[in-house]
Amino acid sequence: MSAVIEQTIETYGIENWGAGYFGVNRKGNLTVRPAENDNLSADVKEIIDDLKKRGINPPILLRFPQLLAGQVRKLQKAFKNSIKEFDYNGGHMCVYPMKVNQNRAVVEEYLREGKRYNFGLEAGSKAELYAALAQEHSDESLLVLNGFKDRDFIQLAFAGAQAGKNVVIVIEKLSELENTLKLADEATAENPETKLPLLGVRVKLYSKGSGKWEKSGGEAAKFGLTTTEILEVIRRLNETGRIDMLKLLHFHIGSQLTDIKRIKSAMREAARTYSKIRQMNIPIQYLDVGGGMAVDYDGSKTSFESSANYNAQEFANDVVYVIKTVCDDEDVPHPTIIQESGRYLSAYHAILVTNIQDEIETVVENLTPLTITVDDPPVVRELHDLRESINGKNYGEYYHDALENREELFTMFNLGLISLEARGKGEVLFWDVCERADEFAQQKKYVAEEFDDLRRLLCAKYLANFSVFRSMPDNWALEQLFPIIPIHKLNKKPSEYATLCDITCDSDGIVDKFVDLHDVKPVLELHKLEKGEPYYLAMMLVGAYQEVMGNNHNLFGVPHEAHIHIGEDGYIIRKVIQGATLGDSLSVVRFDTAQLHDQFRRIVMQRIKDGELTTKEGDKLINYYETQADGYTYLSPNGDE
Ligand SMILES: *Cc1c(COP(=O)(O)O)cnc(C)c1O
Repeated sequence: MSAVIEQTIETYGIENWGAGYFGVNRKGNLTVRPAENDNLSADVKEIIDDLKKRGINPPILLRFPQLLAGQVRKLQKAFKNSIKEFDYNGGHMCVYPMKVNQNRAVVEEYLREGKRYNFGLEAGSKAELYAALAQEHSDESLLVLNGFKDRDFIQLAFAGAQAGKNVVIVIEKLSELENTLKLADEATAENPETKLPLLGVRVKLYSKGSGKWEKSGGEAAKFGLTTTEILEVIRRLNETGRIDMLKLLHFHIGSQLTDIKRIKSAMREAARTYSKIRQMNIPIQYLDVGGGMAVDYDGSKTSFESSANYNAQEFANDVVYVIKTVCDDEDVPHPTIIQESGRYLSAYHAILVTNIQDEIETVVENLTPLTITVDDPPVVRELHDLRESINGKNYGEYYHDALENREELFTMFNLGLISLEARGKGEVLFWDVCERADEFAQQKKYVAEEFDDLRRLLCAKYLANFSVFRSMPDNWALEQLFPIIPIHKLNKKPSEYATLCDITCDSDGIVDKFVDLHDVKPVLELHKLEKGEPYYLAMMLVGAYQEVMGNNHNLFGVPHEAHIHIGEDGYIIRKVIQGATLGDSLSVVRFDTAQLHDQFRRIVMQRIKDGELTTKEGDKLINYYETQADGYTYLSPNGDE
C-alpha cells in the first residue's frame, strides 16, 4: 500500500468508523467488503461506472445486503459469547424495529440471516405490522408491537397470533389493555383454543440515556407506564384471569446511546423491576431491553453524540452481566433477553454516491486583468498596496487593514462616491489579501482563531448533486455526522478544503461539519475538480433512518438504487431500482401528470391558434414536455463527463 493511500485512509478515518467493511484498493478507489476484514471486496468506482453505462446516473443509493447480515451475525455472536462467559441461563433474540428502515430489501435480508437465530420483527404502526404479518418467521421468534394502538391495530395483532405468530402487544396505555381484554374474550368465546397474542408492558424508567435521544427515557418520557400503572395492569389481568398473557417487560431509553454507564444503570433498574414482578408469581419470560446500540459514526470511540464509548461485545457483556447479577440476587430465573437494535444493524449497509457538479465561488475572482491607476479611488489603491506588501510578519495587521478598507469601500459605494468598476476592483483586491493572509497564517505553529474563521470563509464550496433533506435528513435536523469520502483518487493527496452545498434552493442544504477523531471538522479535505472529469463522493453509513425520514423538499425524489452482492468474482449488481421521476415527485403533491399534459397542451394549442407557433412547432413542444415527466429529479452529468 502506498504511503499516500495510507495517508488518505487516515485523513478520512476509514478504519475508525468503517467497522472493517471499507477500504481503499491500489487504484485509489473505495472498496466494500462483505464481512469484517473479508478478503473479497468490491470497487465502488467500478460499480458506479458500470451503472452509468446502463444509464443510471448519480445520485445512486448502493445497498450491500451482506453488510446487514454481517451486523446481524456480529450482534448474535457478541451475545452468544457473553451468555457463555457469564453462565447465563436465558437466551437472546432480536426483533428488528422496522421504523429504522422498512425497505423490503432490508427487512427480507435481515430475516434471511436472522431467522436461524430466531430473530423476529418489531412494528410500531399498523402499516409496519401489516407487512410483518406476511413475512416468514421461525417458531420461537417474536413479533413485538410498540407504539400507540387503537382497536384496529390490536385486532390486526390478534389476526397475527391466529396466523401462528408470537405477537406481543406491549401496553403503552391502559386503554390498550382494555381493548385487548375485550378482543381476547371475543376470540375465545368463538373458540377457546384460539392462539392469543402475548402481552408486554413498557416501563418508564427513572434512568435516562445519553446523547441526542436522552428525552426518550426518564420520568418525563412520552412512552411507558409508571410503577402504579404497571401494578394496575397486573391487577386487571389477575381480575380477568388473563395474567398468563403477560410475558414481557420492555424499556427503551433512546437511540444512539453514547455512554455505556447510562446503559448499565438502566439495565439494573429494569432487571430489578423484572425480578420484582417475577416474584409476584407472574411468569414473565422476556426482558426486552429496547434498541439504542450506537453506531460510531465518527470513529472516535467516545461518548460524543455521533459516537459510542463501547463496542458490541462490551454492550452484550454489560447487558448480560447486569441482568444475571440482579436476577441471582433476587433469586429469579434469567429471562430471555430481547433486543430491538435497529440503527446498529442497518446503518452500514447503505451508501449514497453522488457527483460534485460544480464549485460555487465565494472569493471574488479577477475575471479581467486588473490595472490600478492614479485615477482609482484611494481606498482601492490602499487595498492594492496591502496586497503587494503583505508578508509573513505583517499579515495579521494587513488583514485587519483590509477588513477596514472593505468597509470603507462599501460605505463609499452606498454614498454614490465610487463607481461599480472601482467596487469590483476593491473586492478582488480584498480577497487577494485574505488568501495571502491565510497562506501566511497557516504556516505558523499556532493559528489564531480569526484565521481559522477565515479559512472556513475561503474554503471551496462544492455543489453536490443530492438533497440533504432527502438523503441525510439527520444531518440537517440534528447535526448528526456521517462520514463522507471520495470513492476514487484516494491515491492522490487531497489539496483542497471544502464544504458541501446540496442542490436544493435552501440555505440549510449544506454540509459543513465532518467527522474527525478529536473534534468536528469544519471543512473536508477534497481533491481539486478537474474539467471534464467527474468527481464522486460517498455519504457513508446512511442505512438507518435516513431513507424513510428523507423528505421531498424541492421535489427531489428517491434516488436510484442498486443492490450489490460481493462474491469471488467481484461484485454483482443484483437489482437496479429506478429513482423517482419528475412525474413521481409531482404525484406526491397531488399533481397528476396526465392532467398537466392536458393543461400544457391547451396552452400550446392557444398559441397555435393565435398564430404564434406553427402546428409542427407546437407538436414538438408538447411532445418534449410530455417526455420530460419521466426524467430524473436530480442534475444530469455535466456534458463533457
Ligand atoms: C426506535 C426504536 C428502536 C430502535 O432503536 P435503535 O436506536 O435504532 O436501535 C427500538 N425500540 C423502540 C421501542 C423504538 O422506538
